[in-house]
Amino acid sequence: MTDTSTPAIRLTGLRKSFGAVDAVAGVDLEIADGEFFSMLGPSGSGKTTVLRMIAGFELPTAGTVELGGRDVTRLAPFERDVNTVFQDYALFPHLSVLENVEYGLKVRKVPRKERRERAEQALESVQLKGFGSRKPAAMSGGQRQRVALARALVNRPKVLLLDEPLGALDLKLREQMQVELKQIQREVGITFVFVTHDQDEALTMSDRIAVFDVGKIVQVGTPSEVYEQPASTFVAGFVGTSNILDGRLVGREGRFSIRPEKIDISLDGETNGVVAEVIYAGAVTRYVVDLDAGTRVVVVEQNRTLRTGLRGQRVRLSWLDEHVIEIPTGELERTDA
Ligand code: ADP
Ligand code: MG
Repeated sequence: MTDTSTPAIRLTGLRKSFGAVDAVAGVDLEIADGEFFSMLGPSGSGKTTVLRMIAGFELPTAGTVELGGRDVTRLAPFERDVNTVFQDYALFPHLSVLENVEYGLKVRKVPRKERRERAEQALESVQLKGFGSRKPAAMSGGQRQRVALARALVNRPKVLLLDEPLGALDLKLREQMQVELKQIQREVGITFVFVTHDQDEALTMSDRIAVFDVGKIVQVGTPSEVYEQPASTFVAGFVGTSNILDGRLVGREGRFSIRPEKIDISLDGETNGVVAEVIYAGAVTRYVVDLDAGTRVVVVEQNRTLRTGLRGQRVRLSWLDEHVIEIPTGELERTDA
């Protein structure tokens, strides 16, 4: 599955300006063959623009796009072995599901019999066997999303680009589709580049994540690397909730981050804070605690047993040194992230 010599995608010095706006301000990235790779970042950070340059819908201001070792920077979209799935699906309403899936093959003059077979197969791979004769309007949001996916998969591209494909679905369906998409990707073995602004989605689905901020990649790593060792205050804050503490911790001065689930809250021992707020959320409870040292932190606890009456109580917060993440200095002036 993985060819270590040639990456599926290589971006070098990639830039895109729209007038005075630097939408993409210098991106270097390699994505391996067969990877489920996510681009995560807030709205406006340049994710879609990078995807559109990979697809060929947008010409870079500078830099190159290589697919499978071939420079495609100046090639038209149809000359690249990639397909894109957009958030709004863009299905043809007057065509049946099967005809929608077949469409790309028809355009490329694939014979009718082969077209049918491949379309049926693509529908089967997204668990929509038997739905071919329906019209898109007679399908649920999740099913339409899968039709859009089948329509891209039927072309057997080397790379599939997905721009917030689950954004239009409600939470429950989105979580279900996250699992299904991941399964489909594993089965078909195509390289997926998945754009999202949702950190949970990126963490649960990806082999690796690139975190974007104002047109640049600020960190690339596996989900656990990005979560456990954020490279900056911005990443610590954007990927998951994090408590930022300034001062002397683990024996040195600096800025540190501690994840809410890594903090232990107890009523025994020397207290060091007051519980300001208790937020019950079913599986977990979040405690907002004002530390005597002056910082407000969030603690998350599994509700194995339910505590009551903690609001307003003095408590002791503690954590292990190994869970204290030092935020690299030089970041110290950027407190607004
Ligand atoms: P994201 O997908 O991360 O939300 P985009 O890539 O869509 O970000 O946009 C990055 C920046 O580029 C934003 O400031 C956006 O307004 C700007 N931008 C994107 N496309 C265009 C365009 N066609 N014309 C002008 N500005 C654009
Ligand atoms: Mg976007």
